[in-house]
Amino acid sequence: MALTLPAHPDPLTERLHASGLLHELAHGLGGPFHYLLPERFATNLAGFRAALTDAGVEGRVYYAKKANKADAFIDRCAAAGAGVDVASLGELREALGHGVRGEDLVVTGPAKSEQLLSVAVRQGALIAVDALDELDRLLARTGERPARVLLRRHPPSQRRSRFGLDDAQLQQALDRCAQVGDTVRMEGFSFHLSGYEIQARADLAGELVELCLKARMSGLQADRISIGGGFPVDYVAADTWDAFLTEQGPAHYHGQKSFAAGDFYPYHSPVAGSDALRAILAARPGGTGASLATRLREAGVMLLLEPGRALLDRAGASVFRVQGVKDRTGYGIVTVDGTSLSLSEQWFDSEYLPEPQLLPARSAETTPGPFPACVGGASCLDSDLLTWRKVPFPARPRVGDLLVYPNTAGYQMDSNESPFHELPLPPKVVIDHPDGGSRPRWRLDR
Ligand SMILES: *Cc1c(COP(=O)(O)O)cnc(C)c1O
Repeated sequence: MALTLPAHPDPLTERLHASGLLHELAHGLGGPFHYLLPERFATNLAGFRAALTDAGVEGRVYYAKKANKADAFIDRCAAAGAGVDVASLGELREALGHGVRGEDLVVTGPAKSEQLLSVAVRQGALIAVDALDELDRLLARTGERPARVLLRRHPPSQRRSRFGLDDAQLQQALDRCAQVGDTVRMEGFSFHLSGYEIQARADLAGELVELCLKARMSGLQADRISIGGGFPVDYVAADTWDAFLTEQGPAHYHGQKSFAAGDFYPYHSPVAGSDALRAILAARPGGTGASLATRLREAGVMLLLEPGRALLDRAGASVFRVQGVKDRTGYGIVTVDGTSLSLSEQWFDSEYLPEPQLLPARSAETTPGPFPACVGGASCLDSDLLTWRKVPFPARPRVGDLLVYPNTAGYQMDSNESPFHELPLPPKVVIDHPDGGSRPRWRLDR
């Protein structure tokens, strides 16, 4: 009866889980923790860059920092000469402090504060302008180096988006940029779409290439476009995902809770990560004519992208210790030593579906399962469940066992964490394998 949704098998994490290190860390840290695998981040980054190279397109990758607060990933960006997409002064400071150069930053987000704009201009960062009044604030600056700007396009296919400039506003922005001469360097256009559609991104990118060609006629630089983020991540296999979507209903959740299938992140995606970039580059904007890659090349337009979640694919997991197990009719309630704030998804009235793996404490003999159970947090809120779904654990979990939620580095682990109930925030443990060896080594992030 219980539906299963295991993450794709991952030999690296399986070796780590078998090594016993996670139990040692749970003991030493005395609470839940997240582990990070920056090697994976580096591999994902290299994948995006290879997709650009293979398509013969000049481009740059900016890691969208909001997807994870850890320093370890920023360190990787600095080391690899990759860019970072920041949306606050704090994120900008972190990036600079870890060695990312100012000119390798893109500053996004709505109505940026005066201080953020000012630091961004002085550091030579690219600024994605979201509104006319924001552009005016940049134009009013004097006596400094020119502000490098992209004009963010309001997506015509997503009318309800609160971001970007519509057609009339774009025209006004272009006129103002053309009039002021050197205060502002108009380098191009940007967008960020919600959802994960490939053709929609190729279509809008094609329009922005045309906009660049037009803007150049007014003497503007306009030689790059940013297509934002939203490269999907593939967490689970196609057949289990399809079965889940068809069959899931209130009987599969604690408290007969119901989730609409459309409220879940698409945890299976046939084309994901850098393959999605390859597909966007190969697609024909507007459905006809040359591919996006060809149009970019012919127009001499550089392609910028801002992946967050996709650069963090399989680059981390969240570890909780079982603190209690009790029975309800037909299933159990496992309570762990952290809260659903460390898994984020409940905030969107949804659920993180790739299921936690049970790592029994080594000495314990287990009662064979399957043992269906939901997973509750160590708080006094009835709604604090990490997993409402009755997950079919292979054995009855016991106090001291670990639950490892897979692939949580992209948005899940820390975007909504708070020290609720005076529970300390779970630390982040950076794990690597020196010299490519099999023995894992760890340190704390920060
Ligand atoms: C959030 C965001 C991103 C990253 O989105 P992902 O889905 O994590 O790839 C990129 N650009 C902008 C402007 C964003 O707001």
